[in-house]
Amino acid sequence: MTDDPRLTTGLGSIQSVGLNAFEANQIEIQANVGHGLPSFVVNGKVDASLREAKDRVRAAITNSELKFPDLKVTVSLAPADLPKAGSSFDLGMALAILAATEQVMTTRTTRTVFLGELGLDGGLRTVRGVLPALKHARDQGFTHAVVPMPNVAEAALVADLEIGGARCLKEVVRWLAGDHVLDTVTEGDAIPPPTEHHDMSDVVGQAEARHALEIAAAGAHHVLMTGPPGIGKTMLARRLPGILPPLGSEESLEVTAIHSIAGTLRAGHPLVSEAPFIAPHHTTSTTALLGGGTGLARPGAVSRAHRGVLFLDECAEMGPKVLDALRQPLEEGEVRVSRRDGVATYPARFQLIMAANPCPCAPAHDIDCICSAVARRRYLGKLSGPLMDRVDIRVRMDPPGNTALMSDAEESSAAVRDRVTAARNAALDRWGAHGWLTNAEVPGSALRQRFRLEPSALRPIELFLRDGRVTARGADRAIRLAWTLGDLKGLAQPGETEVAEALLYRDRGGH
Ligand SMILES: [Zn+2]
Repeated sequence: MTDDPRLTTGLGSIQSVGLNAFEANQIEIQANVGHGLPSFVVNGKVDASLREAKDRVRAAITNSELKFPDLKVTVSLAPADLPKAGSSFDLGMALAILAATEQVMTTRTTRTVFLGELGLDGGLRTVRGVLPALKHARDQGFTHAVVPMPNVAEAALVADLEIGGARCLKEVVRWLAGDHVLDTVTEGDAIPPPTEHHDMSDVVGQAEARHALEIAAAGAHHVLMTGPPGIGKTMLARRLPGILPPLGSEESLEVTAIHSIAGTLRAGHPLVSEAPFIAPHHTTSTTALLGGGTGLARPGAVSRAHRGVLFLDECAEMGPKVLDALRQPLEEGEVRVSRRDGVATYPARFQLIMAANPCPCAPAHDIDCICSAVARRRYLGKLSGPLMDRVDIRVRMDPPGNTALMSDAEESSAAVRDRVTAARNAALDRWGAHGWLTNAEVPGSALRQRFRLEPSALRPIELFLRDGRVTARGADRAIRLAWTLGDLKGLAQPGETEVAEALLYRDRGGH
């Protein structure tokens, strides 16, 4: 090492990982320090957030008792053609400059990736997307990763990668010199805390709605609940994650990765192991729903609800554009977010639960409604069309009668979850080979042809079709639902009873 880095020219190289939405790429950060007018240039398809990195890197180096070279400094992020955004390259850029000027040792850097945003004081700040970035690094053969201290618990979720947590640039420099040990966490620290307790046993009465929610959980069906304000639509929807099977380990990591990029992980307990519940307000924007924004595109509500529940309360109050935007992710299970550099894709396979008042004036009892017949029709009419074609269950909630309020304690979520899990396993055994995981995913054509029910089971549908009481699409929905009713009863195939029952769910909810 030399005492005066201003005189040192050279090349330094540090490895990092960049994210383009859900896609991770290994990024090599090269710093070249050469003779010429003092300057600092960053190359390699970087966005505005990265150009600000120059100020942070320069200040962090000088405020860490290190020297920023008074020479021509060029930092390149390779491969050049990949778009790069976010602040997680700060640490790598600083280290590359320090390596070029021989202020740090580079013997430990070849198998190590570095992620972290720098403060002007040289402190390291938490960054988004650590989990998906480090999973990629591990798959690329890296053995070590250095991350900001607050990201350590999340980083530790990646198996077979040694994690070091640092509070500031100086700690990393001392670690590279071999005279500092970086902090790690053991697996025991990452055990998730018990999840919030929203139990089905808290819901008094509403037997029909509770049963509808159980069916929805078993078949992964989308639901529309209508009923007056305060009837318990939100309370019930919040209890859906508690009766869904817990996420498998792969799903869990996938969901955690999305929430890592969104910046919504719980500090210290980052692993998301239960189905998420995401409830955007009815005034939410299309961007907030679908994702986007400058820098590293944030996953929207549809992606944060991936493998879980998207709850839209007062959905009749949402703009038609916002509701229409849901169609593409509902159909494809992923969402495309438009970017300056093209299109980014995030997973978005969620169960949609919508709730609406029956009319604009929304009285506690229907009899007090002051809306005109036209206003009432128009209100829920907004929800018709292609979006509603995907909603298999409509349920109408009414104020509970006195007997319902006096009834015994209701069943717990754990008991319901056992039945739901058994039904889901039955569906998976049947459809798994065809690539469908749940009854809700089975296309109508398969239900009508390949997996056609016995003629006796189809009799109620034929009657309804003949009388014009159900449309062809409505018939598909009823058959799909009948399969779930059969699965909940442990039947090999739904019969006439299940099909007739399913037809009852066809039109409820007021339209
Ligand atoms: Zn009204």
